[in-house]
Amino acid sequence: KELPADPISENYIRQVEQACFSFVTPVKTASPQIIHVSPEMLENLGLSQEDAQSEEFRNVFTGNEVLANTQPYAMCYGGHQFGNWAGQLGDGRAINLTEIVHNNKSWAIQLKGAGKTPYSRTADGLAVLRSSIREYLCSEAMFHLGVPTTRALSLALSGDEVLRDVLYNGNPAYEKGAIVSRIAPSFLRFGNYQILAVRNDVETLKILVDYTIKHFYPELGEPSKESYLQFFRKVAENSLEMVIHWQRVGFVHGVMNTDNMSILGLTIDYGPYGWLEGYDYGWTPNTTDSQHKRYRYGNQPNIVLWNLYQLANALYPLINETEGLEKVLADFGTSFESKYLNMMRSKIGLFTENNDDQNLIQELENNLHLTETDMTIFFRNLSRFQKENPERGLAIINDAFYNSIEELPKINEAWNKWFEKYSLRLQSENETDTERAEKMNAINPKYVLRNYMAQLAIDAADKGDYNLIDELFNLLKNPYSEQENMKKWFAKRPDWARNKVGCSM
Ligand code: AMP
Ligand code: MG
Ligand code: MG
Repeated sequence: KELPADPISENYIRQVEQACFSFVTPVKTASPQIIHVSPEMLENLGLSQEDAQSEEFRNVFTGNEVLANTQPYAMCYGGHQFGNWAGQLGDGRAINLTEIVHNNKSWAIQLKGAGKTPYSRTADGLAVLRSSIREYLCSEAMFHLGVPTTRALSLALSGDEVLRDVLYNGNPAYEKGAIVSRIAPSFLRFGNYQILAVRNDVETLKILVDYTIKHFYPELGEPSKESYLQFFRKVAENSLEMVIHWQRVGFVHGVMNTDNMSILGLTIDYGPYGWLEGYDYGWTPNTTDSQHKRYRYGNQPNIVLWNLYQLANALYPLINETEGLEKVLADFGTSFESKYLNMMRSKIGLFTENNDDQNLIQELENNLHLTETDMTIFFRNLSRFQKENPERGLAIINDAFYNSIEELPKINEAWNKWFEKYSLRLQSENETDTERAEKMNAINPKYVLRNYMAQLAIDAADKGDYNLIDELFNLLKNPYSEQENMKKWFAKRPDWARNKVGCSM
């Protein structure tokens, strides 16, 4: 194709056809500075603490130096955004540096915020410090919670200023630019396949699907209609697994567009995500979705299924019959029912099955919606319930209520009734109270990255103090342990943080 008048780089904005990616060069930054590194990810990649201190590390993980014999690239993908096909999107501010194999595991290394690519559309290819802190802290926290996720290796300041907003007085509001290096076996999304199907480029679609199976689902064997179908089944199963974990820990992604759905079932693209404080099916952290609330907590499993329908459409040209694809989609529904039920059972310490469990859990969820009730505190404290003493139930969970329920007899009654039923149900379980508590505490986290916690870390970092990033990073490495000296983080959202939600840019 003809180049634009000023072909300063290969990074000019364009529709990229018959290709899965484009080679790009990260932009050099004013004064790069690494502000945090994940020791676990260093180890996974075979790097040492000394490596992390080096100038080379700083330069490579901020895009200021390209490693010899590597060719950074940005991927082409499309996606359905809020239910509508949006055409080509692509890595507008993500650049894949290279892939490395260590301890028999393969990792792709990606910089987020390292400059423009052919997919940047009208945006700048950059990231600001606040959203980078949120992605860095949350993706590592999710890993330690046992949720499938992309990881993060480093958080850095670029030294450049980034413009995101113009103030009411007309002055530009510059923010600190930042770069996160994120790591995953692959960053492929549903949208990578969709864009090729929409363009009728079945040839490239087949190349990409064959590549994906060969590298990430090798157990499926040689390319065939059957292995393509099994591939779809695996993606559906992995995505289901992921969303059940989200529901378990109270994570709300906020932008479950098909370009933000990993083909490996990893939580990907931490934008306006948030954590449930009050247990509320209708809650979303995404202020741009506050009317329809498409991506609200209670709707996340439905949206995963909706997104899988879109992926099924994209794979159809390789399979050419609907029956098998439809079966996978139907199985998702049944499988969800039973997996969700079992997950909720485990959250309340039930490890055997009883026909009435569904009702018991439904009644629990109804009660949790009666008044603003902190999800994390509720489930964590519930582990102290004594099966012989249902009348002490309310006192045990009382800390979870945002407003006193003392003078609300109906709510008291509903809870006491539920505790009676729960107490009876626990009689048929095998664990002692102590044993049950231990099991429940391995399922219900004590510490999650509440929105206000990330905000405090952001405010401090903005002033050049990175201690809180480090404190939260370490706290969230052991989300299920008591950490007595960290109890200040096992607390309800403070009043000032009400309605303060995430940020996406
Ligand atoms: P998201 O809503 O963050 O998943 O992003 C949707 C699309 O917008 C993706 O193609 C992103 O790469 C792109 N995008 C988001 N922010 C920027 C930015 N600052 N510069 C360039 N592209 C961006
Ligand atoms: Mg995205
Ligand atoms: Mg994003």
